Amino acid sequence: MPEQPFGSDQPDRLRLAVQKKGRLADDTFDLLKKCGLTMSQSKNRLYARVEQLPIDILLVRDDDIPALVAGGASDLGIVGGNVFEEERAAGRLGDNVPMVVPLGFSKCRLCIALPKETIYSAPKDMAGMRIATSYPALTEAWLNENGVEGARTVVMNGAHEIAPRLGVADAVCDIVSTGGTLDANGLAVAETIYRSEALFIGGPLDGRKAEIAEALRLRIEGVQRSADAKYVMLNAPRDAVDAIAAVLPAADQPTILELAGQSDKVAVHTVCREEVVWEQLEKLRKLGASAILVLDIDKMLA
Ligand code: ATP
Ligand code: ZN
Repeated sequence: MPEQPFGSDQPDRLRLAVQKKGRLADDTFDLLKKCGLTMSQSKNRLYARVEQLPIDILLVRDDDIPALVAGGASDLGIVGGNVFEEERAAGRLGDNVPMVVPLGFSKCRLCIALPKETIYSAPKDMAGMRIATSYPALTEAWLNENGVEGARTVVMNGAHEIAPRLGVADAVCDIVSTGGTLDANGLAVAETIYRSEALFIGGPLDGRKAEIAEALRLRIEGVQRSADAKYVMLNAPRDAVDAIAAVLPAADQPTILELAGQSDKVAVHTVCREEVVWEQLEKLRKLGASAILVLDIDKMLA
């Protein structure tokens, strides 16, 4: 079969814009893989075709994703909240602000950092400073909200952390994960102005595209649900079942099964919505539970 061209002759294929290469791309491809989606094209092409659902993946720079979705060139996108909110705050999304579902990965903070020797106790201490950033809209919004007078942004697209040493800025506002880069450049975080995670953006859509988007959203939700969920199985004295259930507050209503040849004991099975820690297992044992098994859940559809 000849390769189908990507474009307007494919009205029933949904377009999903993702970062082509980078920190968000790694987490995004991992999510798509967990959703059971594989792609037919190599990552260095402009798009890839999903094999299991009628979805074309647009491989782009993360900064372009909000506008591609808001402008309708792509139906959906996966992008960092930091980039999405910057585009929105800068007024580049117009009136078509898409719907947003937080994804819980690619977490990072947008922080204002100052040279370590700067005396800082409150936002007003930033009065008059020049702040090097590639997030001018979010930075300026924060400065206004906090009544910082006379401060302004200096837009830089990289190497912000050397700006104070070069004398082109007094502070920086950038993504921080561990703070190691800041520390190595003699800077320290003064304020966290935004906590970011990856967002699934787009829609509302109609017709066939809405159905495909819903199928994708359900798979993503299934992956998110099962991320920390555990399947717990144990044997318990019949009269301790309530006390045992109370040790697992995040668990669903348990299934109670008879144990062959034992009238005083039952098997208890339950799905626990969060991690089960050793302390809980020890409590279960003290309540008389035995043969306790905690299993990872691969997929979950409610
Ligand atoms: P592009 O070439 O696509 O413009 P980029 O250099 O802007 O890439 P990356 O460094 O790959 O971007 O980061 C992309 C996004 O990943 C960031 O905007 C942020 O949402 C998220 N991110 C950044 N740093 C981290 C981190 N340390 N941990 C997790 N997520 C991060
Ligand atoms: Zn970028």
